[in-house]
Amino acid sequence: MCSTSARIISGNALAQTVREDVALRVQALTQRGIRPGLTVVLVGDDPASHVYVRNKAIACEKAGIKSDVIRLEEQTSEHDLLSLISRLNSDETVDGILVQLPLPSHLDEHKVIETISPSKDVDGFHISNAGLLMTGKPLFRPCTPYGIMKMLESEQINLRGAEAVVVGASNIVGKPMAMLLLAAGATVTLCNSKTRDLAAQTRRADVLVAAVGRPNMITADMIKPGAVVIDVGINRLETGKLAGDVDFAGALGVAGAITPVPGGVGPMTIAMLLVNTLEAAERRAAQS
Ligand code: NDP
Repeated sequence: MCSTSARIISGNALAQTVREDVALRVQALTQRGIRPGLTVVLVGDDPASHVYVRNKAIACEKAGIKSDVIRLEEQTSEHDLLSLISRLNSDETVDGILVQLPLPSHLDEHKVIETISPSKDVDGFHISNAGLLMTGKPLFRPCTPYGIMKMLESEQINLRGAEAVVVGASNIVGKPMAMLLLAAGATVTLCNSKTRDLAAQTRRADVLVAAVGRPNMITADMIKPGAVVIDVGINRLETGKLAGDVDFAGALGVAGAITPVPGGVGPMTIAMLLVNTLEAAERRAAQS
């Protein structure tokens, strides 16, 4: 049996601190006549997307950020969606545009993201922002990896020379995560579904990030004793409960620190969306 030892990294607590800081900066900006604004576009009826969008809107309102949600029918044409994005691009009161993913299958996700002005792409998914991140000059960092970096920073994890292993290589989590860890001085291994011996990779990790979407796939024996384990996965079990990608109970006995699900990376993702929107508005203020 494993003894409980790992420190639990609370995303809820850190997100609260970040949100309070954002609220103060939003207030200062609003007093100068510039109220930060985020517009979220939601196409279709995906229930999980509706929950995410509602949570984002509530977080914006609490921080004093103006939030608009534009809900479009599932059958919306690509032409209409791209026209809407173009209008939002030229609307000066909109600092951030977020198109909630996934989109219905008849819409080309890539084309939609590339239509968002890079200066309003608060998700950081536009190829121009991906390129800036890759070349070490980020404008917007994608919110989930950005939130994870904040967590590592607040836990005072020394990343210089650390072995970091990221499991999952999506454009929105794994790849930008690897870039940010690399920029912080870590030696990074990025794993995907073809990785031959995953456990051999994860066992070397001083910092292990799991972002796959498979419940409990990272088991205690795959974790280096004392490692920092960041669990990005959000998996709905048949019981209705949420689980991460890491066997949390098992990992507690091996890891040095670990993020829980829920209450870990999720709240930080929303907090960093607020930061990105605020910073877009601060750049607008600097130009006016
Ligand atoms: P994707 O499905 O886009 O990507 C999954 C990645 O995992 C792919 O790179 C895939 O490899 C890799 N993978 C699949 N199976 C294995 C395996 N057996 N071993 C190693 N790698 C594997 O997922 P996302 O990045 O969008 O999301 C990942 C998880 O994170 C999901 O649970 C999602 O809900 C959650 N999430 C949580 C957020 C939060 O705020 N907490 C935000 C965003 C996502 P390949 O490239 O070869 O296909």
